[in-house]
Amino acid sequence: MKLIISNLKMNLTLEEIKSYIQQLNEIKCQRNKLIVCPSYPYLSYFNGKNYSLGSQNVASEKMGAFTGEVSIEQLTSLGIHYVIIGHSERRTHLKEDSDLIRKKLSLCFDYDVIPILCIGENLEEKEKRTEVLKSQIDSALQGLKLKDIILAYEPVWSIGTGFIPTREEIKNTLDWMKKYMKSHYSIECKVVYGGSVNPRNIESLNQIEEIDGYLIGGASLKIEELKRIIEVLEVEK
Ligand code: PEP
Repeated sequence: MKLIISNLKMNLTLEEIKSYIQQLNEIKCQRNKLIVCPSYPYLSYFNGKNYSLGSQNVASEKMGAFTGEVSIEQLTSLGIHYVIIGHSERRTHLKEDSDLIRKKLSLCFDYDVIPILCIGENLEEKEKRTEVLKSQIDSALQGLKLKDIILAYEPVWSIGTGFIPTREEIKNTLDWMKKYMKSHYSIECKVVYGGSVNPRNIESLNQIEEIDGYLIGGASLKIEELKRIIEVLEVEK
């Protein structure tokens, strides 16, 4: 069972999302788990049974006077139990730091929401990525009482660029992440890969056993591409 997490980011109009949902509801995803993360206003339009919903973000405060924010309680009241936290676009454009990320993670654990924590190195850091990932994991998780969590390894230089690490690099990095989470945090967590996943590279990526799933941006916007990716993953190996 692989996790397939589609991150629609700030894309699609209401008309487009309605047609997307119609086609999404027809996709067969039985061997794997599909989690769709649309923009907030569209969450309640999704009505299919073949996927779960996730949020692209959550406020770091519980409730109250925080104009423009959406709280964890509001999300859970919509039946949402997955939230992407610390995506590199938020770290870069919105200056999200580890203190903020830790607060969001803590709220997720309090409300039994499963966070999908994104970490990854930028191009200059490629050769020392283990160090970078270690620091991102520790600064986000320090002092928290951990519950279920999904880690997303997303090399920043791979997001939306068409470039992906070699199979060997992904294998070694994910293997290291799983071992680190076990030895330092005593948990076996799922680790997904994100960065330019598409129908052309999914068969090759699917040969890496360490990958527990995929976080997919650009390709998940085109329903035909998402469908093709799912079809490849649905085939029994
Ligand atoms: C992402 O934004 O998390 C992502 C993986 O995007 P893309 O698939 O477009 O590289």
